[in-house]
Amino acid sequence: MPATSVIAICSNPDCTRHAAAPRPADLPAACPTCGAPMVDRCWKCEAPVTDPFSSYCRACGVPLKRVLPRAGRPEPVIAICGNPDCDWAVAVERAAARPSRCARCGASLLSHCWKCGARVVDLRQHYCQACGVPLKRQPRPL
Ligand SMILES: [Zn+2]
Ligand SMILES: [Zn+2]
Ligand SMILES: [Zn+2]
Ligand SMILES: [Zn+2]
Repeated sequence: MPATSVIAICSNPDCTRHAAAPRPADLPAACPTCGAPMVDRCWKCEAPVTDPFSSYCRACGVPLKRVLPRAGRPEPVIAICGNPDCDWAVAVERAAARPSRCARCGASLLSHCWKCGARVVDLRQHYCQACGVPLKRQPRPL
């Protein structure tokens, strides 16, 4: 009897990488080509992926490859140094793991716009992507 195998496809719409393995635990969690999370089941109805060349769920028809915020896999928290003369920045998995001070100059880090509260989304970001204020001209909290 042929062993049944499970299939995962890369969730990146621009990537055609897929993988098959005897057990779900043997599937790669991240795409070996582009690093995006691999999906082995429909995010909506949880039907397993059976066709590595289809990007739509065979059961409910939703597109499997979308860039989705994944449960249990929060987007990284980005914190940039608040010192305008320093370009140190860090990305961490969880807000709790975020250091509070710059490792280079000791200034306090910021991960949200001081004006509108929008998240910092880029390690080299200098201006708020939502309201446009310079992020690094935050009034010193202390
Ligand atoms: Zn990929
Ligand atoms: Zn589905
Ligand atoms: Zn710094
Ligand atoms: Zn803002």
